Amino acid sequence: MYNDILNKLSKSKFRNSFHLSSKDIKYINDKGLDVIRYHAEDFIKTRLAPAYIPNDGKQTPMKNHPVFIAQHATATCCRTCLYKWQVYCSACNSNLL
Ligand SMILES: [Zn+2]
Repeated sequence: MYNDILNKLSKSKFRNSFHLSSKDIKYINDKGLDVIRYHAEDFIKTRLAPAYIPNDGKQTPMKNHPVFIAQHATATCCRTCLYKWQVYCSACNSNLL
């Protein structure tokens, strides 16, 4: 299932436009992956999981944290993208590119 999603994401010009900067890589190396994972979990819990999200679609900045970049690259940046790419796409195997 995940390989299908990743394959489809890899064909998206928009999703492929996100790359970690040297500043992002330095941040990851300085903090360590355990801290980055913690940040990712916290962002998901506080920005995607709540029942009501007042700014859904705009809650993930386009820069300033490597997890934000990864979220846009993997279409986990907001509920709309999450549903479109991760739920709908895997459920119906539809080509949404
Ligand atoms: Zn989004």
